[in-house]
Amino acid sequence: MDKTDIKNLSLDDLEGFLLGLGKERYRAKQIFKWLYQKGAGSFEEMTNLSKEFRRELAERAAISMLTPERVEVSSDGTKKYLFLLEDGASVESVLIPEEGRATLCISSQVGCAMGCRFCLTGTFNLQRNLQCSEIVNQVCAIRESENITNVVLMGMGEPLANLSNVVRALNILISPDGFQISNRRVTVSTCGLVPEMESLGRAVTVNLAVSLNATTDEQRDILMPINKKYPIAALLDACRNFPLPNRRMITIEYVMIRGLNDSLDDAKRLVKLLRGIPVKVNLIPFNEFDGCDFRSPLQEAIDHFHRYLLDKNITVITRASRGGDISAACGQLKAKLEKTVQGGTHGNI
Ligand code: SAH
Ligand code: SF4
Repeated sequence: MDKTDIKNLSLDDLEGFLLGLGKERYRAKQIFKWLYQKGAGSFEEMTNLSKEFRRELAERAAISMLTPERVEVSSDGTKKYLFLLEDGASVESVLIPEEGRATLCISSQVGCAMGCRFCLTGTFNLQRNLQCSEIVNQVCAIRESENITNVVLMGMGEPLANLSNVVRALNILISPDGFQISNRRVTVSTCGLVPEMESLGRAVTVNLAVSLNATTDEQRDILMPINKKYPIAALLDACRNFPLPNRRMITIEYVMIRGLNDSLDDAKRLVKLLRGIPVKVNLIPFNEFDGCDFRSPLQEAIDHFHRYLLDKNITVITRASRGGDISAACGQLKAKLEKTVQGGTHGNI
């Protein structure tokens, strides 16, 4: 009989699992604390459970872990971790230290099916969804050596295309018996899967980031194929209806691509689109990669765009390109590793 990976269980699931073994419900919380607060790697360590109980658990369940295959540290302190999964697939996480906080960016899928034209992950296609345990284990592994204050699902993959595993993982992150991270410090980023945005909002209260990246359907259809299914108006309606944590705003991500969506007209259209929605805007200069013809915007275009939004009283930050020397942009370490494995080394790892 295959053992249950205990990190695939929500607190409710674990309670059910334990009740099935004839154990008390409160034991689930004890076990959760061992797993996610004390970083236990074996049932043996769980000394507030009887020896017999621990033995029984070890017979029926396993505790999975991930260890980084590779860690790269950028000159600005950004750290990139590459994890090799059981089936040989790999995913990555990026830790971004800033004044007073450290944000961990984690992956939700191996590759991505959404095929956005400016995204390296998109070029890998979807290999598979991550299990809940593989999502939380990225946090477990890095928390051993780092003090993580914020978590964003903004690494590889489209989190809402793996909704049930992502929701379970989010609940473990914010549970008082789990990682105990405030829901105000946890963010899910989506390319705009409208029905799943509604389901997410019903299932769990966390912050939402939406990758808008364009101001007309014509532009967005080209950059992000998902727009043909859920055009901008439907996406912004879903934003209006999304239940956020108290006093929070939706983050609108806008990847600026030279000559494509970086003009002042784009900025004007953006302001009109966002009217009446509680948002802050993240401007992200496009990160160039081999095999993609798009170019990063000129600094002048970024400055003009940024200033226009500010003048219209929109909270805006231009995300500084972090970890450039280790290519911390989504999917880039994985691409390099795979190229290295295939023979020619490439770039600057
Ligand atoms: N699938 C989700 C989360 C992962 S992508 C989503 O699309 O939101 C995380 C962010 O990286 C998105 O905002 C995406 O627009 C951005 N991104 C992807 N490729 C990029 C690139 N080459 N340069 C800059 N940002 C990029
Ligand atoms: Fe997938 Fe997000 Fe990349 Fe689009 S931007 S291909 S949704 S990871």
